[in-house]
Amino acid sequence: MAMTDVLVIGGGPGGYSAAIRAAQRDCDVTLVDRDGVGGTCLNHGCIPSKALLTASNLVTELESASRMGIYAEPFVDVGEMIDWKDDVVDRLTGGVEKLCEANGVTVREGTARFTDDHTVEIAATDGTIDELEFETAVIATGSHPMSVPGFSVNDDPILNSRQALALEGAPRSLAVVGAGYIGMELSTVFAKLGTDVTVVEMEDDVLPGYESDLTRPVKKRAESVGVDFQFGQVAVEWSREGDGTVTLHTEGTDGTDHETTAERILVAIGREPVSDTLGLEAIGLEPTDAGFFETDDRTRTARDHVFAVGDVAGEPMLAHKAVAEGLVAAEVASGGDAALHDAAIPTAVFVDPEIATVGLTEADARDAGHSPVVGEFPFNASGRALTLAETEGFVRVVAGEDTGRLLGAQIVGPEASELIGELGVAVETGLTLEDVAGTVHMHPTLSEAVMEACENALGQAIHTLNR
Ligand code: FAD
Repeated sequence: MAMTDVLVIGGGPGGYSAAIRAAQRDCDVTLVDRDGVGGTCLNHGCIPSKALLTASNLVTELESASRMGIYAEPFVDVGEMIDWKDDVVDRLTGGVEKLCEANGVTVREGTARFTDDHTVEIAATDGTIDELEFETAVIATGSHPMSVPGFSVNDDPILNSRQALALEGAPRSLAVVGAGYIGMELSTVFAKLGTDVTVVEMEDDVLPGYESDLTRPVKKRAESVGVDFQFGQVAVEWSREGDGTVTLHTEGTDGTDHETTAERILVAIGREPVSDTLGLEAIGLEPTDAGFFETDDRTRTARDHVFAVGDVAGEPMLAHKAVAEGLVAAEVASGGDAALHDAAIPTAVFVDPEIATVGLTEADARDAGHSPVVGEFPFNASGRALTLAETEGFVRVVAGEDTGRLLGAQIVGPEASELIGELGVAVETGLTLEDVAGTVHMHPTLSEAVMEACENALGQAIHTLNR
């Protein structure tokens, strides 16, 4: 029987990072994925969605460029746009394949299933099955879209995010179930490409879980590109109409029911872990009721030689968290030591304008026993934001009053997902408001808003009134 030191199941960001790092540490590594490398992130998630967001944003930017004296009516060929998106995906997955090869990782296509403590069987797509013995295993099987009962994606008009990102063209109309980050990102894409979009959400706002002053500009901008929202509505069933459209039937939490007719229905109500096809009974591992693996700060499961990383190891289900965990698993599985630091895992929603956060909100900080001091800087006071014609939103920083240390930050506005990086470093390394405010930032840049928010918390802002 073939043998490997480190077996990695799943070739998404968690799995391929673990595999490459373990190989860099001189282990013999085998990576098994039923779908090729890249996982959800590269093939059906982060990358294709961001490619389409970039392209669709460009359409509306051109349409609104008349304020700068530019008059353009973009001609959009959605087919060519999709080809470009596919090319981006191919370049990235091809790059990961090459990196695995160059680092000496053996990549195998197939579905892995445990048969005992140190063995898996690998079922290839051609039907052949063979066994592989391993010393340590890293489970990185990710997650898949949750479905609403009765809304099967095997039915033609019903889509999940993976299928929506693989559409050949933009539907004329789309009903989206769920205003979480995936629902909002895809609604933004299709609305900007001319689709008539209605979003149905059971909560009373978009992006549940984010503070309302962050979500307000996002909802306003989405409405301005034609997205219609129905809040407090739960999808219960759908029916086909004679003209080829479908009707989504929803029940209101206040007793009012609605019907929305559209060409397609996109279900985007969240994701659930993939742990049920691994033959876990063979190694005596039991996931939680929700299907996640419980792990320690070394990413170890209840079995010392089995690690779990990424979406299958719990929230936040984000690619960079999967990578961070994959690297820790690789170090520990190959005899080294490493531990997770999860105070500064950023989140971002790549809508218009973007939202990004890291660490604690003001309310979280109070709940955690801190006495927080808060500083804000609005983008409408930023020279760079004005020159980019993107003045909506703000940077907010939260720090401990006694220590001045950054505990968290929230941003809504242009390039929020890039700006949060500096604040992530600050939170992770325990920088103070003075450290960031005292660092000279390039002018004119959006990052000056980060510096000024820290100055504002210190009562020293120059370009906005101090609190
Ligand atoms: P995955 O990437 O899901 O990879 C798991 C792999 O395991 C898959 O390739 C699967 O084929 C394989 N597998 C499963 N079971 C087996 C088995 N038994 N044998 C062999 N192979 C198996 N995150 C961000 O951080 N930023 C974003 O902007 C972002 N945007 C997203 C947009 C969308 C539309 C979606 C759906 C997700 C997005 N995410 C984003 C989430 C991100 O994609 C995931 O958090 C990330 O992919 C998780 O990585 P992973 O390695 O845990 O698992």
